[in-house]
Amino acid sequence: MKSYHEIIETTYKEVKKTKDKGKIATYIPELGNVSSDNFGASISTIDDKTFGVGNCDEKFSIQSISKILTLTLAYKLEGEKLWERVDVEPSGNPFNSLQQLDADKGKPRNPFINAGAIVICDVLVSRLENPKEDFLKFCREVADNDTINYCEKVAQSEKETGFRNFALCNFIKSFDNIKNDVDKVLDFYFYTCSLEMSCKELSETFLYLTEDNFSTCKGNRVLSKSEAKRVNAIMLTCGFYDESGEFAFRVGLPGKSGVGGGIIAIHPNEYCIAVWSPKLNPKGNSYKGMLFLEKFTSATTSSIF
Ligand code: GLN
Repeated sequence: MKSYHEIIETTYKEVKKTKDKGKIATYIPELGNVSSDNFGASISTIDDKTFGVGNCDEKFSIQSISKILTLTLAYKLEGEKLWERVDVEPSGNPFNSLQQLDADKGKPRNPFINAGAIVICDVLVSRLENPKEDFLKFCREVADNDTINYCEKVAQSEKETGFRNFALCNFIKSFDNIKNDVDKVLDFYFYTCSLEMSCKELSETFLYLTEDNFSTCKGNRVLSKSEAKRVNAIMLTCGFYDESGEFAFRVGLPGKSGVGGGIIAIHPNEYCIAVWSPKLNPKGNSYKGMLFLEKFTSATTSSIF
């Protein structure tokens, strides 16, 4: 049987040669300044070994991948009460959609679409004394890495152009499912989306969603087994918006994407894998990232199914 290293290297070379049919996200102008040639991947296994290829050490805007971290912290703080504020159903709609919220009386379908993540940010704004500082501290602890930071430029760029997110937040507030000031909640949301990490840092950080005792590499428990199972379940059903079914079908792992072109995926008993290629398909998921993960999991013999 080939090792994960070998499979990653061969898959990387193969996908690198493929024509990229994606487009870089420019609706957040600052994201448009990234070179679209970047392509990297990294795998971390539950025995704490990491192996990367290509631009695996370059930091990029993780965007919606941060929604796993905000959900994790809110879930730790609120427990099962959290699901009174946000549901766990796939939305079948784009990540920034306003549809469904009216009929659902302001309760977003899941924590991984913008509407849901904004409600999660509201929960954190209520719970944390200094939301931006405390959340960053949590991320650094989970990642065991003090270099992790927000990108001011991306956060500001998003604030200037985030009209849909302002609409979502105001609309949800009209149903009383946002408890804090809209500007304060969105300021926090934009900063969480602006977090920058490399593929290596991502694959190491999200190992806490594997059977590795659901802990950081220092052994601090992040989630209980049952909570980690639930976060993985939401990733499998909702991690890719209206392409969640397609991702489960082609890749077969729980995962989460971001419009910066990053994707992480979890094999709960074995590894976390991260990939980055900035050009996105029409559903807002990395074109080469998805292709890479599809080829990678097809070449390995181990599956969660
Ligand atoms: N910050 C982005 C937004 O709110 C996140 C979207 C994403 O990565 N899918 O539009």
